Formats: sequence, C-alpha cells, structure tokens
Amino acid sequence: MSNDRTPRRGVLLIVASPSGAGKTSLCRRLMADHGNLELSISMTTRGIRPGEVADRDYHFVSPEEFQELIDQDAFLEWADVHGSRYGSPRAPIDKALEEGRDVLFDIDWQGAAQIAEKCPEDAVRVFILPPSLQELRRRLVTRSQDADEVIERRINNAKGEIEHSDMFDYVFVNDDFDRSYSELAHIYHAERSRRFRNVWVEAYRDDLLQEDV
Ligand code: 5GP
Repeated sequence: MSNDRTPRRGVLLIVASPSGAGKTSLCRRLMADHGNLELSISMTTRGIRPGEVADRDYHFVSPEEFQELIDQDAFLEWADVHGSRYGSPRAPIDKALEEGRDVLFDIDWQGAAQIAEKCPEDAVRVFILPPSLQELRRRLVTRSQDADEVIERRINNAKGEIEHSDMFDYVFVNDDFDRSYSELAHIYHAERSRRFRNVWVEAYRDDLLQEDV
C-alpha cells in the first residue's frame, strides 16, 4: 500500500477580521504549526510600519507599480482598504497549489469575496469577530503603530467589515487567544480532510479493496 498522500487539492484559507481583532497573531501561529501551509504575502501601497519587514509582512510598492500589476492581471484579488491598495499576487499561489500546499490569506472581506467567486471549491472563508468595539479600540491604541486619525478611521471601518461577516463560511469571536487558535486549527484540519481535496484517496481505496486478506 502506498504511503504517498498526493495528489491533493489545496485549501485557500482566507482569514478576515476588522484590524485589531487578533487575526495576524492567529495566522502566524497557524503557519508556525503547519509546514504545508504557505502565507500569501500581499502587495500594498501603504507605508511600512515600525517593526514590519519588507517582503516578510508585505511587498511594499508604489501606486504606479501596483497599477502596472493590475494591468498585467497579476493579482488573484485586490482591493482598496483604508485608503491604500492591497492585493494577493497570483504566481506564488498557483505555484503552492501545484506543489500540493495550502495557502493562507490575511485579507479583507472584499478579497475574500473575489477569491470565493474565482475559486469556489478551494476557498474557505473564516471571519474573526472582536469581543467588542471598545476592546478593538483598546487593542489598536495599545498597538499604537498608527496615528490617531488612522485608528479612528479603522474603528469606523470595523463596523462595515463586521457587516460582511455573513458571507463567510465560519465565524468566531476572538476573546481568548488559545481557544480561538484551537477553533481556527480545527477548521483548517477539517477542511483539509474533505474527500474531494484528497485526490489520492481514490487510488488508495482501490488498492485497499484489492488487498488479499
Ligand atoms: P493593515 O494595513 O492593517 O496591514 O491591513 C489592513 C487591511 O487590509 C486588513 O484587513 C488586511 O487583512 C487587509 N489586507 C491585507 N492584504 C490584503 C490583500 O492582499 N487583499 C485584500 N483584499 N486585503 C488585504
């Protein structure tokens, strides 16, 4: 019996939330624990923040470069978020899927909608809600990586994002990191186990049925 668990069809795991709901920490932990999961590094026209590393957190590009990439159809999705442009480059995603890996997206609801429309079978959409808007404000202020007016804009945008959580496949509240992480990991594990993603099962099952017993 073969131990080869390929070919398989990759998961496009999309995690969205308002800024400050804890999505990035949850995604980092999921990546650290799952070697087969690759983070889609987005391109953005926004400026780099203190503590961020170019090409690890984002590929930082000018508005002109971003527009050129749109014209070349180089994004699986892109959107205007908080006054800047953000997009998921298509080439690394295609490569990961071809090599049997899964891809994690830390993107907004607009990007989630576009990927779900283009890849309805592969996309799995998870929305993370904050415990309250008060708590969201507290987290954004504590993080204090943004100017006051940016924080105000993000809080105002949070309600708009939360309104779109009804189009997601899974929704949970991040009021406890460990519990939320467990929820996210369970969703990922279950989705990875779906039969249609495990294309290798068909041949394996045939082998099993032909086994001499
Ligand atoms: P931030 O500027 O705080 O890093 O991100 C702002 C928002 O843009 C977050 O909700 C983040 O998930 C979203 N975002 C980041 N990258 C992308 C992307 O490639 N596409 C889309 N649609 N949204 C993104």
